[in-house]
Amino acid sequence: MTLKYCCKCGNSDWGYWTSSSSRKTHRYCRACRRKRAANYTQQKKINGGSHTEREWREKLAKYDTCPMCKIPWTKIPPRPDRRYKYVWTKDHIVPITTGGHSGIDNIQPLCYRCNSSKSNREMVSLPNTIYATITPKIYELQLPDNCSS
Ligand SMILES: [Zn+2]
Ligand SMILES: [Zn+2]
Repeated sequence: MTLKYCCKCGNSDWGYWTSSSSRKTHRYCRACRRKRAANYTQQKKINGGSHTEREWREKLAKYDTCPMCKIPWTKIPPRPDRRYKYVWTKDHIVPITTGGHSGIDNIQPLCYRCNSSKSNREMVSLPNTIYATITPKIYELQLPDNCSS
């Protein structure tokens, strides 16, 4: 079942990640992932806008709960991956791929669960631009390349 080369780019540099919900291990092509990351970074630059760490903390301080699921931060279970300390993530309200900028008015905190389901929904509705709609940490981990089997 293991294909040697990525069907999209022909490389064979595979990375692996384990889904926290299904516990299944998935494979992704590192070369394709780098390309997605570069596209995302470029798109972000084109869209413009920026915010400081301080603006972000002030924004975050206004939220006791995740604005999407309304669950208080303190009631959300810690992220399975211990490298991530917080249950909230930075979300672009208008996604980068649809032209959203990085100014503080386009940024909100979302819990990691809502952020990943938002990304998945956008993946479904925007098949051609799916990769860039994912926030960097999530798209790095959650998109298997459909080359296996
Ligand atoms: Zn590839
Ligand atoms: Zn949430």
